[in-house]
Amino acid sequence: MSLPAKKTIEVDENVTHYVYKMLNHEMILEYDESKCVECGFCHRVCPVTVSIYDEPIKKTAIGTPEEMRMESDKKIVVDTEKCIWCGCCTWICPGYTLKLYINDEKRLPLVENESLPEFHEEVRELENGNKVRKVVDGSIKISSEEKDKKILEQFADECSVGALSVENGEIKADRKKCILCFKCSKAAENYKNISVKVFRDRFMDVKGEPGSVWNAIMQRVLGKVGKVKGITSKRQNKLADAMMRLLGKETAEEQE
Ligand code: SF4
Ligand code: SF4
Ligand code: SF4
Repeated sequence: MSLPAKKTIEVDENVTHYVYKMLNHEMILEYDESKCVECGFCHRVCPVTVSIYDEPIKKTAIGTPEEMRMESDKKIVVDTEKCIWCGCCTWICPGYTLKLYINDEKRLPLVENESLPEFHEEVRELENGNKVRKVVDGSIKISSEEKDKKILEQFADECSVGALSVENGEIKADRKKCILCFKCSKAAENYKNISVKVFRDRFMDVKGEPGSVWNAIMQRVLGKVGKVKGITSKRQNKLADAMMRLLGKETAEEQE
């Protein structure tokens, strides 16, 4: 087998391994669908972007099959041709759904080298026993002229973390439970009488002094600069280089 080699392994009905095998290192990005709350943060945080001006959000390495234009019945898929196994998606994932393993050890090199800060975690247990945490703070505004109770309840069910309910014919969002994700605002596009606006004001408190990668990620996830922009390819290359340096190897050296 020529190295480096990239492959996708379905470990079981829930768990998928996205593997990058080098001569001395093996990186595995693990996705466990049973924990995924379909929040959409991984798609927004992934730094892999071809162009910052040309629909960058469709060009990340992770997202729904629709966003990735890939055929799959999974909620989230990874494009191994684009992924640089940086772990940013793992770092932000509110559902503890993604993990990055380097030589069988669970790691987050971009946190270890202080490019990204650790969150002060506020973990909540969902009804199904899975855990979820909030990574951003802000507010949500739901406007509805819908009168049909069934449709309102159907909309409330769109939230995977149980933050939406119907009270007295109105949809209510529980601020304590809401993780300010991208799910219900996207779902609302299919409901003609319901609209949602989510304001992601800031990241939750973090520990440490983050590096420049953090600023680009903040802008991208919070959408502070209007249209969500990607990280420039220059920064993306630096990130990939940094990952390889952290592993103590250049990719070129490993090719046979
Ligand atoms: S960030 Fe995690 S929980 Fe959210 S959609 Fe991605 S994999 Fe699922
Ligand atoms: S590991 Fe990095 S490059 Fe790969 S999907 Fe996650 S954020 Fe994107
Ligand atoms: S109510 Fe909050 S947590 Fe639930 S889908 Fe909407 S933004 Fe996400």
